[in-house]
Amino acid sequence: MANPLFDQLFQPHIGSAAPFLFLPGGGRLSYGDFLTRAGRFAAVLRAAELAPGDRLAVQIEKSPDALAIYAACVISGVIFLPLNTAYAPAEVSYFLQDSGAKLIVCDPSKEDALWPVAEAAGAQLATLGVDADGTFAEQARDRAPQLSATDRSGDDLAAFLYTSGTTGRSKGAMLTQDNLLSNAHTLTDAWEFTHSDVLLHALPIFHTHGLFVATNITLQAGGAMMFLPKFDADQMIALMTRCTSMMGVPTFYTRLLDNPAFDRDLTGHMRLFISGSAPMLKDTHDQFEARTGHKVLERYGMTETNMNTSNPLHGQRRAGTVGLPLRGVEVKICDPDTGVEVPQGEIGVIEVRGPNVFKGYWNMPEKTAEELRDDGFFITGDLAQMDADGYVTIVGRGKDLIISGGFNIYPKELEMILDDQPGVLESAVIAVPHADMGEAALAVLVRSGAGPDLDAIRAMMGVDVARFKHPRDYIVVDELPRNTMGKVQKNVMRDTYGDWFV
Ligand code: ATP
Ligand code: MG
Repeated sequence: MANPLFDQLFQPHIGSAAPFLFLPGGGRLSYGDFLTRAGRFAAVLRAAELAPGDRLAVQIEKSPDALAIYAACVISGVIFLPLNTAYAPAEVSYFLQDSGAKLIVCDPSKEDALWPVAEAAGAQLATLGVDADGTFAEQARDRAPQLSATDRSGDDLAAFLYTSGTTGRSKGAMLTQDNLLSNAHTLTDAWEFTHSDVLLHALPIFHTHGLFVATNITLQAGGAMMFLPKFDADQMIALMTRCTSMMGVPTFYTRLLDNPAFDRDLTGHMRLFISGSAPMLKDTHDQFEARTGHKVLERYGMTETNMNTSNPLHGQRRAGTVGLPLRGVEVKICDPDTGVEVPQGEIGVIEVRGPNVFKGYWNMPEKTAEELRDDGFFITGDLAQMDADGYVTIVGRGKDLIISGGFNIYPKELEMILDDQPGVLESAVIAVPHADMGEAALAVLVRSGAGPDLDAIRAMMGVDVARFKHPRDYIVVDELPRNTMGKVQKNVMRDTYGDWFV
């Protein structure tokens, strides 16, 4: 009997008194108690007649129980399908229909709205709140913990994780036990997580970053997490003294830097700060180092592949790059049209292969065939270049590339220049339809202080940048639209400014 994901990440902790989760109110949950809870949940899944391979959708607030449901799915061989808590019932309806989930567990406050949705999708519905309330918790109360795991192989599916929907409709990435395990091992080793680590965790747990990267590494290493319901700079600062490491999206770091209490004294004892899910500006890296003496370690991954590259723990961490391919992960930079590797240093699309790469998109065989090659390489859609030392620099997503009058304009190149101008906090350059050029570049600048001098920026562009790349116009705004993972939503901006040049 075997269930590799359970045997390696969970089983070793059964009965352990070591802390797994520290809670901001002062509470703590041991590994042993966490697994007892997960075992009770697994017994509920069995009573609900969920069989291995069935899907369980959850849309619940972040809590220890939300992680216990993940563990219960692993025990039972049920496919775990976490959903963004911000999704409205109509969106949840799509995910239930698409995945064919047999059961949805939702927050008690959403029960009324989701009943009809579950019913229409033929799914059972149960509720689970953050205070161990709800029908699912009630059913678990008197059950004997089910801790002997269902037989599974490494190739069996462990989760359906829907992509963030930054470039279009979310796709359900089918992830196997081995996909998750291989990345947990690789990252634990690469970043040297141990049982002494306490990871400051303020990320959502419906996304690969907070769920698999953070949680699976902690389980693998036997460390603990300081488990915050959401990002709150004051709370992060208050609790940092009890932690050794932190993972965050770039906005976490910029917000911490906005707080004068975040300084060298506060962070002196910390071992590691990791960033990912969206590009971190070089300026943020530099400010962080100047303020704390730490270099943020930036890494790159996605729902479909887990993590692919990382700056090294011990070697040189290069700001503005996402580092080197992780152990066991092959990374190629290829011509988007031919799929042939481009000469070193040139821009192309990142393709990756390794035990971390998913099985395909659920219910989307055409999309899977377009993006996952027969030889196992996944075409990520991210454009990048690799330098002679193997460091990868992402220049943007293929879908954000601007083709103006037949020439390629890489938004990142312009954004880096614009970000450096006085009065500009950050920028986003997007493609907007243009009668003459097909598409033209529109620069959206976020004001800092008194704001930018657009004439000076135009003059600077005239001197420093080839004419065909010049933004056709500039707009100054207070902030860029971002989703919960801190990703700039260029598709939303393309809609907003779509008729700017007509
Ligand atoms: P969708 O695929 O639905 O459009 P998404 O790609 O944003 O959404 P995720 O899987 O959450 O969904 O995000 C992965 C993407 O995030 C990567 O393809 C890449 O574009 C971006 N990304 C992740 N880490 C970094 C990083 N360190 N620097 C730049 N971009 C990053
Ligand atoms: Mg994507």
